[in-house]
Amino acid sequence: MKELHLSETEIQAYVLNSSAIGEESRFHIQHCGICKEEIARYKAVFSTIENQALPKFEFNLEKMVMSQIMAAEKSPAKKGVLVYLITFLAILGIGFTIYYAREYFMDLFWGTPQISIMIITVAASGLIIFQAVDYFRKFRRKLNQLSFN
Ligand SMILES: [Zn+2]
Repeated sequence: MKELHLSETEIQAYVLNSSAIGEESRFHIQHCGICKEEIARYKAVFSTIENQALPKFEFNLEKMVMSQIMAAEKSPAKKGVLVYLITFLAILGIGFTIYYAREYFMDLFWGTPQISIMIITVAASGLIIFQAVDYFRKFRRKLNQLSFN
């Protein structure tokens, strides 16, 4: 007979699976009140953990998440990406054009009357502001789709 009592680890292993410990240890349990008591204590703890009710949300989480996902899928996400891509390429194209033709542009601005520059500036600013507002609106709409309320 094994003289030493079972360790905490051995007892836990035994409670979870009675064949997890060696023959000698199992024999010890059969004749040791202290170890039997310890086993009973662990069994009670484990069964309490198992019987604990799953945490419940006061709202239907699955329904809420799924409805958000469905709403997001309905929006033309791919179309949005394409628009961003085209805009990006357009900006890139304009940027390169300005960069490589900067001398020509300098001549253009030096040679043209003040009013032409004003018109170009106002038109460009208006376009940029319109684009910025549009992007901001899109961004806010996407944010609203994600917010849970
Ligand atoms: Zn013992």
